[in-house]
Amino acid sequence: MQKIKNYINGQLIAPQNESYLDNIAPATGEVYSLIPDSDEQDLTLAVEAAQSAKNKWANTSTEKRAQILCRLADIIEANSEELAIAEAIDNGKPVTLAKDVDIYRSAANIRFFAHACTQFSSESHAMEDVAINYTLRDPIGIVGCISPWNLPLYLFTWKIAPALASGNVVIAKPSEITPMTAYLFSKLCIQAGLPKGVLNILHGTGPNIGAPLVIDPKIKAISFTGGTSTGAHIAKSTAGLFKKLSLELGGKNPTVIFEDCDFDDAVNTVVRAAFANQGQICLCGSRIYIQRPIYDKFKQAFIEKVSQIKIGDPLESDTQHGALVSEEHMKKVLSYIELAQTEGGSILTGGKQITLPGRCEKGYFVEPTVIENLDNNCRTNQEEIFGPVCTIMLFDTEEEALTLANGTQYGLASSVWTNDLKRAHRMAKNIEAGIVWINCWLLRDLRTPFGGVKSSGVGREGGLEALRFFTEPKNVCIKY
Ligand code: NDP
Repeated sequence: MQKIKNYINGQLIAPQNESYLDNIAPATGEVYSLIPDSDEQDLTLAVEAAQSAKNKWANTSTEKRAQILCRLADIIEANSEELAIAEAIDNGKPVTLAKDVDIYRSAANIRFFAHACTQFSSESHAMEDVAINYTLRDPIGIVGCISPWNLPLYLFTWKIAPALASGNVVIAKPSEITPMTAYLFSKLCIQAGLPKGVLNILHGTGPNIGAPLVIDPKIKAISFTGGTSTGAHIAKSTAGLFKKLSLELGGKNPTVIFEDCDFDDAVNTVVRAAFANQGQICLCGSRIYIQRPIYDKFKQAFIEKVSQIKIGDPLESDTQHGALVSEEHMKKVLSYIELAQTEGGSILTGGKQITLPGRCEKGYFVEPTVIENLDNNCRTNQEEIFGPVCTIMLFDTEEEALTLANGTQYGLASSVWTNDLKRAHRMAKNIEAGIVWINCWLLRDLRTPFGGVKSSGVGREGGLEALRFFTEPKNVCIKY
């Protein structure tokens, strides 16, 4: 059985306690590799390695850092087939999605921040003829990056690329549920000539390695993506330590469809927005509000498209909908489908676990599910399900749509469909979310700020926001 290794000080090594956890392939339900159950001993080694590498990396020229990162991006691309298959096996997502989205974006993240750091400049503030201020932006030092299982290598690289590009050394923890591509990535880092100790990857659980990492006093900033309750726990446990924190948390995103939308475009995109990656994207639109005049027509077209989604073995190239990430997660999703029915919801399509024939017969497959007739305030519409489940609801006025869209504790993303320019601007301004897509979904420009409001997080990633997060500003004031 393959044993995944930690990446510490440029080497692939076993956990100090020699303890491992099972890594299960969600499409088959079988254990197919073993994950280090790392603990504080491994963290100590990683912190020592990072400490030794810190000054040299911070003083390496921006151009040289960018060169190494670009080489790494090239190597990811050269290995994209292998990485995509590994991601599909480890996560259960369709291999074509893994290749076209996850692995493509992983290379793009690294290349983007490699170039961005060479264009990063800082401010200067003149005080007429009295003085001039300029801002120095130095790397923070050792930073921690913790990522979730839904877009494993994509979100892992989204964090470590700006951290490394801006001269920090990193201790990173991928999700224990999907460790494989981070492990393969550590091999690629060695191949790309990333100096030892600059990036250290520790595998294992939230409690055993995530929690100690977060509170280690030598780690000066934490960039975290994951659930809202874990984010709250991290905020509490670091409260007295004065670390920089970036928290990208859960979502329950609204999709608002007005009667004047481009109908076919809206139907096709809203299906993708609800069910891409089996609905396991923090940006998925799981609450769909449709204006009364087109409600029945939209509902019919939407259900027809959803019922045509091809569910299958993630390794088959025509599969559109793979397995959920774990048995535990599948049970959680199925329990929400049950809850929705007790809350008065009617299932329009889907609603069941599926058993596929052959090698996937023990896999964690759930049909894309659409539910109607639920109140906006019920638990199904308020809590993050993070699976292939969406609800559709009716509204009459723009004001009502806005109240419904804003009626949860979350505020990550939203998608609005209308051809009325003024209404589009009004909705964009008034929706409580960090991201508003008008007549589109998941159209991403890596220069833009990314993150949520309310319980969806604190801080922004992306573009200059990420480079600012990973640097410490210092003002220098010089009197004339
Ligand atoms: P979790 O919060 O369970 O885990 C996220 C990461 O944190 C994992 O690596 C996990 O480790 C680790 N972790 C768990 N407990 C601790 C702890 N006490 N201290 C430090 N680290 C810890 O989230 P999921 O992995 O279940 O991911 C799904 C969630 O992520 C959803 O809520 C989703 O909305 C959110 N998300 C948000 C995004 C955004 O940009 N806002 C993007 C993508 C997802 P381990 O898994 O090994 O236990």
